[in-house]
Amino acid sequence: MKTLATLEPLIARLREVQHLNSAASLLSWDQETYMPAGGGQARADQLATLQGLAHDKLVSPEVEALLTQWIDPATGQARDQPGDAWDEPSRALLREVWRDFSRARKLPSDFVKRLGRECSLAQQVWTEARGQNSFARFLPSLRTIVALKLEETRYLGYRDSPYDALLDTYEPGATVAALTPLFTTLKARLVPLLNRVMESRAAVDDALLFQAYDPTRQVEFGKLVLTAMGYDFDRGRLDLSAHPFTTSFHPTDVRVTTRVYEKEFSACLFSCVHEGGHGLYDQGLDQERYGTPLGEALSLGIHESQSRLWENCVGRSRPFWRCFYPLLQQLFPEQLKAVEPDRFYAAINRVKPSLIRVEADELTYNLHIMLRFEIERELIEGRIAVEDLPAAWNDKMRDYLGLVPPTDAEGVLQDVHWSLGAIGYFPTYALGNLYSVQLYEQARRDIQGLEEEIAAGRLTVLKKWLNQKVHRWGRTFTADHLIRRVTGSPLSPEPFLAYLEKKYGELYRLGG
Ligand code: ZN
Repeated sequence: MKTLATLEPLIARLREVQHLNSAASLLSWDQETYMPAGGGQARADQLATLQGLAHDKLVSPEVEALLTQWIDPATGQARDQPGDAWDEPSRALLREVWRDFSRARKLPSDFVKRLGRECSLAQQVWTEARGQNSFARFLPSLRTIVALKLEETRYLGYRDSPYDALLDTYEPGATVAALTPLFTTLKARLVPLLNRVMESRAAVDDALLFQAYDPTRQVEFGKLVLTAMGYDFDRGRLDLSAHPFTTSFHPTDVRVTTRVYEKEFSACLFSCVHEGGHGLYDQGLDQERYGTPLGEALSLGIHESQSRLWENCVGRSRPFWRCFYPLLQQLFPEQLKAVEPDRFYAAINRVKPSLIRVEADELTYNLHIMLRFEIERELIEGRIAVEDLPAAWNDKMRDYLGLVPPTDAEGVLQDVHWSLGAIGYFPTYALGNLYSVQLYEQARRDIQGLEEEIAAGRLTVLKKWLNQKVHRWGRTFTADHLIRRVTGSPLSPEPFLAYLEKKYGELYRLGG
């Protein structure tokens, strides 16, 4: 039996690629947290050099020679000699390295540089266009980016839809054909549920979340919750940034950020819990496998499942607040002394259709994703022209959320993804939501008295379960294999829909 020891020469090279990537990640983290504003251009050049080096090192002739000696390029699978098969970890490692290697090699380095340059220019243009509420200002840049992404689909190849090639970048194996039925089911149940909630007479008031909450105390509370979740501050840290994120240089150094608004309590806490979920995943990866796919997160959808599980299934649940609400009241006696736990629970779960995903409640969140999925797909399949995007956007907002953005700045120009070239990224957010509930329901079956443990503040029982079931495996399994292995079923929208119908049925007293 051949083991990972045989692959040591390859693993040593992969570690060097990872060292370059980790250095680049550290520069990016610094850019988002402490870098002075004037450092932007130099930092972009430094990042481009490091990313170029990492790319060249991965697609080098040395790596190709090592891989082709062990892998059949036609199938992408490890070659077995009779009587001398590979063990499972080696087989998984070879499969995943081949995926990375062959994808990286399909993209000419001239193309990668062009795309990088256009996206960095487009981000500036987008910022200005949004400031001026002018889609026309962004239109030429967006045309260029869409053309480049189409070029990319031709390099990468696809079977049915060119959008599949882009989806696969973020969520290996995801296709239009697989996502469409999931999203159709979601839409068919979420839109009527939203309508019933909006027509309900149950009054849910969240004004109490918009009082003044001391920012230092908000961060203190965020740290307290992160610690209870099992986030290890000896191997991590919490900082502030405009857009909360998690970054990892190694399982021993995983950093999270949050943002604080004095008059909006939810932002800081739920960013801490969300990023903490991402952070636990990265801290829970196998250190021995650092630098190889076996020590890397499986996909963006699975990563997002970890953050959404903690943020929503735990952080917006009654059991969680049975433990943490009295602590929060002690920190903010003036604001919360007279607020009953039930009123607080209702406030943090209030449903209110909004113009942008990042402000969305659990019920309307996926509607933002479906809108983006449909528009991006039509765009990449050539069924909608770039100049028609604002109208298409507003039509779908009306259909799904009953809102029409008053300006393009709040509509089609609302976020950074397209200027970054991140087309095909959004569906991973919806997949994260579906995986999160399916995994959480399984945790409730596997861990006796899970909700009592959570209500007592013992959150690490859940962290340990996730470590065992999800984190430690890295990319050993595909997402489909992992979810079947852990829950016994393929990905399904049912657990997620049942969870929402129960939660909001009760909160808004929908009956029946
Ligand atoms: Zn996230």
